[in-house]
Amino acid sequence: MEFGPRALIDLAAVAHNVRRVRECVPKARIMAVVKANGYGHGVARILRALGDADALAVARMAEALALRGLGYAGKLVVLEGSYQVAELREAARAGLTLVVHSDEQIRLLASRRLPKPIPCWLKVDTGMHRLGVRWDRAVAAHRALSASPAVVGLPGLMTHLANADDVADPFTAEQMTRLLQVHSETGGELSVSNSAGILAWPQTHGDWVRPGIMLYGISPMLGRCGPDEGLRPAMTLASRLVAINPCEAGDAIGYGSTWRCPEPMRVGVAACGYGDGYPRHAPSGTPLLIRERPVPLIGRVSMDLIAVDLRDCPGARVGDPVVLWGEGLPAELIAERAGTIAYELVCGLAARVEVLESAVSRPRGEALG
Ligand SMILES: *Cc1c(COP(=O)(O)O)cnc(C)c1O
Repeated sequence: MEFGPRALIDLAAVAHNVRRVRECVPKARIMAVVKANGYGHGVARILRALGDADALAVARMAEALALRGLGYAGKLVVLEGSYQVAELREAARAGLTLVVHSDEQIRLLASRRLPKPIPCWLKVDTGMHRLGVRWDRAVAAHRALSASPAVVGLPGLMTHLANADDVADPFTAEQMTRLLQVHSETGGELSVSNSAGILAWPQTHGDWVRPGIMLYGISPMLGRCGPDEGLRPAMTLASRLVAINPCEAGDAIGYGSTWRCPEPMRVGVAACGYGDGYPRHAPSGTPLLIRERPVPLIGRVSMDLIAVDLRDCPGARVGDPVVLWGEGLPAELIAERAGTIAYELVCGLAARVEVLESAVSRPRGEALG
């Protein structure tokens, strides 16, 4: 029996989540976002569950070239585009689609004759002020980009939503108004929605949606979890109880002695810690699952281990599986306790955690056929 932590990646859940995206956006095409090693799930394996996507997207050139190395031959979009001439040539050779977000990138393209012209998106800054050409200069930028001999076809318009996770925030509509103003003069395809846009803002769906986190079964919406959106978690992080200590009233648990037993009780120790990617800031009270029952973490998270209060779980034994997040315990809940977002938890899975996968063709909890 393996006592260390392991992450089970459920490929059937990913395939299910792609179908869920289709239900939300029957008319748009899907650019599945697999940056950061498929949000920590392992891009090579996630690829096998994404057969239904129309394109893939990654943040950086190196990630795109790695995907080509894995044999992915479909449409592939680099969300930050390219910053060097040598990269442009590689992008052309590898048949990549580039997002162009700055005047520097437009100039870089305009000054080159490449082995093959490159399909591009123009990234428009509609108010997030991260990447993109500001909306009031975007028409001119689009003209310059379209005129470049290095670019094939009419570039589409892409923007990113800053506040779409909050259904009450009026800024999403304002960003859309700015983008549609540009679009009325440029034409071209539109790509706006991240997962939050897909789930909560139909007016942002456009021609291509860019789901990331929802593919992995996690909800981006404030106060909601994947299952609330009809999603299934793709990653379950689990370990085992490796010790159970009978403690006395007043005994202190872990580094800093931050938690004390109020009465004689059994304290469990699970083999998982911040060295595995579990958040060190998860406070006492953060739930873990043992025997399908939520039990509270107590004391500080250490590198390899965490302690749990077993008072409500009298049947617990050394060797019992402990779920840290995933099936039955949404990562969103753990993230909220730890003052972060579930994106950071799954992306931060440590390399030493053993990863197992379940097949894409074996849907769980669903009728077959
Ligand atoms: C990461 C990313 C996405 C996906 O966002 P989610 O919130 O994970 O759905 C979409 N578009 C761009 C430009 C991104 O960088």
